[in-house]
Amino acid sequence: MIIDVHSHVPPREAPGAAGARINTLSRPDKAVDWTAGPDRYLAAMQAVDRAICFNIAGDPRPGARGDWRVRARQVNDDTARFVRENGAKFIGFMTLHPFEPDALEELERSRGDLGLRGIKFGPNYQHFDPLCAEAMRLYRRAEELGLPVLFHTGTSPEQFAELDWAHPRHIDHVAIAHPELRIILAHMSHPWQRDCIAVIRKHPHVYADVSALFYRPWSWYDCMRLATEWSVLPKLLFGSDYPAATPQETIDGLRAVNDIPRQTGLPSVPEQEVEQIITRDSLSLLGLA
Ligand SMILES: [Zn+2]
Repeated sequence: MIIDVHSHVPPREAPGAAGARINTLSRPDKAVDWTAGPDRYLAAMQAVDRAICFNIAGDPRPGARGDWRVRARQVNDDTARFVRENGAKFIGFMTLHPFEPDALEELERSRGDLGLRGIKFGPNYQHFDPLCAEAMRLYRRAEELGLPVLFHTGTSPEQFAELDWAHPRHIDHVAIAHPELRIILAHMSHPWQRDCIAVIRKHPHVYADVSALFYRPWSWYDCMRLATEWSVLPKLLFGSDYPAATPQETIDGLRAVNDIPRQTGLPSVPEQEVEQIITRDSLSLLGLA
């Protein structure tokens, strides 16, 4: 069983060449089409048995930076419709913005009416301090209801996405305040993988996903060796960050982690533990089985 804990719900249909949003900054080795349609998503997901999918709402406040304004309600309706139309393989997570006045009501609606089973936050993209009171009340309710929370952590090419709010050290405080909350730190907080490891090793219910890492081969190898030395390989969950990468590319990238030691004699990452990341039962760990 292979479970992808990190994928982005595709638009209802691909917008065509004119409306495509091609990002050449996400990956050093190829451009990413963030507007790829559902056919490509579904084809890519044939490599996995289950997939968690989501998108995030923009900052609703007047004068907010950037042009990302879509409201949580609309994103959640889209995610729920995608899951409804494409079957039980997919598990939708909701988005919330702590500064939307009805954020708590939207949490209840998304869980109860829409059947969404976790929450994705991107504090840097959504321009909120992950420790603000408005966000903390959402984590409290998520802990009460057993909804796992996935945070974008790590850098981003977006100019106005606040780096500090994507740092994993803040999530240590969230986990201390909410020790039963299941948390995933996306991308092992690249390039702060060391700091991510410091957080996940001390909290039994805080994990990291390995998405969007393999295409930087040295830092990928380096963080997997760090994870080996710090005994946190069992805290790493499989994820692709589709469309940034497909699950198959990510599986191949995981299995290539020892290319550098094979060429150099540097210490390797235990192959068996690499395979365990690919087949880990993340849904049980997150309380979603
Ligand atoms: Zn992502």
